Amino acid sequence: MAGLYFHIPFCKQACHYCNFHFSTQLNHKSSVLEAMKKELELRAKDAPFTSLASIYFGGGSPSLVSPETLGSFLEFSKRYFSWESSIEITLEMNPDDVEEAYLKDLLIYGVNRISLGVQSFFDSDLKQMNRAHNAEQVWKALRLIQKYFTNYSLDLIYGIPGQTLADWKINVFNALEFEPPHISAYALTVEPKTVLAHQVAQKQIELLPEEEVKAQFDFLGTHLESLGYDHYESSNYGKPGFYSVNNTAYWQRKPYLGIGPSAHSYNGTDQRSWNVSNNHTYVKSLQDNRLAQDTEYLSQVDRYNETIMTGLRTQWGVSLEVIRESFGPTFETYLEDQAAKHLDLDYLFWDGDCLRVRKKAQFLVDGLAADLFLLNLDADES
Ligand code: SF4
Repeated sequence: MAGLYFHIPFCKQACHYCNFHFSTQLNHKSSVLEAMKKELELRAKDAPFTSLASIYFGGGSPSLVSPETLGSFLEFSKRYFSWESSIEITLEMNPDDVEEAYLKDLLIYGVNRISLGVQSFFDSDLKQMNRAHNAEQVWKALRLIQKYFTNYSLDLIYGIPGQTLADWKINVFNALEFEPPHISAYALTVEPKTVLAHQVAQKQIELLPEEEVKAQFDFLGTHLESLGYDHYESSNYGKPGFYSVNNTAYWQRKPYLGIGPSAHSYNGTDQRSWNVSNNHTYVKSLQDNRLAQDTEYLSQVDRYNETIMTGLRTQWGVSLEVIRESFGPTFETYLEDQAAKHLDLDYLFWDGDCLRVRKKAQFLVDGLAADLFLLNLDADES
């Protein structure tokens, strides 16, 4: 269940909350794309897999790339990997890039899933966040995507300054007009060195109180579950059969190869690597046949902590058997001990041998997971 990820590091303009790597210098697009093919060529032979369950074009704004060029990446990948018959091929799109001819061409070249960055149906929110699109473009984009694709997802942001619960409900109801088989919803977070961080520090923008953000999160979960969506990961809701293959593999710690500036890779066991977050340095290195990447080797404690975080955020939870078999009895006992107080509070529960989060505590999942982390390296000897 391995994946291939292409990071297209270009955007028309910078959204105020975004800390992903991208450049607005679109004239460098072709040299970066060429370097990305070179990177794939250099790295594919060392990939710990030979077949792909998913290919994902993310960014940045991959919908700034023509379908023909995306298709050439797909063809290129076939030189190195076989495709599983059910392969999921996702393109992240911004609403202002959605055109009928573009969607038709995507289908021809093999893209079979769209992830649309809606974020909000209110122009005031979109303007505040400095998104490049407006609400009218969202409606138009969704109508077209619904016409051509059966598998698509839309991204929404909640906890936007000034957003009331009533506003959020309107966003959710508008999204549901299109019966999307998948929805991702993220709380607006203040990342360092973003315009939003500056605005908050200067008191130009006031963040919503946490209880209001939680009310929005709770409404979404309850409402979508009543309509048959599975809340299969903290930020993700899918109809059965429409979970993101790419993201599920990531949460289940399957290997993936990330190509492009700033892209991360994981070998499925103990090694993560990431590319330089600078388009110029990236291109220059690859022109010299060198990879511009750093690698981190994960200790047993690192891997245990990652297993807790990714597992607890999903509907599958953390399997005690997996902890025992992968890390040994010391880790198993540690997990049981650490979980005890949260079991008493009924924030966590055992579902068979899997530790899962109660609905009422899902908003707190990252804090709960952190509380189960192992910091004491003595236990790393088991
Ligand atoms: S379009 Fe996406 S990647 Fe680009 S600035 Fe906005 S949030 Fe970031």
